[in-house]
Amino acid sequence: MGIGLRSSADRLELLCPAFSRFTACSLLCTLAVMSSQTHFGFETVAASEKAGKVMGVFSSVADKYDIMNDAMSAGLHRLWKRRMISVAAVKADSTVLDVAAGSGDISIGMLKKMGSRGDRSGRVILTDLNGPMLAEGARRVIDEGFLAGSADCIQSDGTQLAFADNSFDVVSIAFGIRNFVDIEAGLREFYRVLKPGGQFVCLEFSRPVVPLLDVVYDAYSFNAIPAMGEWITGDRDSYQYLVESIRRFPDQGRFSKLIKWAGFDLVKHENMTGGIVALHRGYKV
Ligand code: SAM
Repeated sequence: MGIGLRSSADRLELLCPAFSRFTACSLLCTLAVMSSQTHFGFETVAASEKAGKVMGVFSSVADKYDIMNDAMSAGLHRLWKRRMISVAAVKADSTVLDVAAGSGDISIGMLKKMGSRGDRSGRVILTDLNGPMLAEGARRVIDEGFLAGSADCIQSDGTQLAFADNSFDVVSIAFGIRNFVDIEAGLREFYRVLKPGGQFVCLEFSRPVVPLLDVVYDAYSFNAIPAMGEWITGDRDSYQYLVESIRRFPDQGRFSKLIKWAGFDLVKHENMTGGIVALHRGYKV
């Protein structure tokens, strides 16, 4: 048993003398084993396995990712993302980090809002853990006419960002944080790399808040989405994971608490499409 566990057991014994040293140690060992486990959709997996499994999902669907987004959401993801970009506090000279940028919809929207095509000082960095997804993002950013210097791609894990403290005016993440092995570690990293006064914006699936919408939404997502995934990408399992990972993710209120816990102030959220998606905002004051 490590020193950390031994001293934690000492503290538990101090706090509650009725706790025998043996009980305290076994409780802490059980908690340590549990904390090395996580969820991949509805499956319980070792935390060390999850990142590889998530990478498998996105490598498998990267080239059909955009078509599937339109098909699954009947185009609604464009409206959700448009709203996210409209609330993002970007100006012509902002420095933006788009985490889990994938095929680059948010980055491109931010660049357009900044009017930045290499002729201004503004800059968006697209970062993603997955090479094939980031390659799609790079291709689309270039096709849109944005030059290196105003848009750059850097492969990086959102829970261990390869950027200095206090570097960005805005940190954005859309439909990415749900896939992280450690959501809290990601939020702490976003806080660390934001400049004081900077804004964090996050778009993610959430919980329907309109009566009966949850019933319709469950029926649609558990039946139609995996079938669509199989038909369009030839990969049913990745879309089964998508649906399950949405149900595992904290609801609007719990996610707001996690954002506050990571250090952000003035945290608020707005529901879209009856709470199927929520847009959270927070500030490093
Ligand atoms: N933001 C894009 C959008 O809204 O279309 C892409 C979202 S896609 C559903 C999720 C992205 O999260 C994938 O590109 C995946 O590679 C990325 N991702 C998953 N885990 C990550 C991590 N730990 N760090 C960075 N990116 C990650």
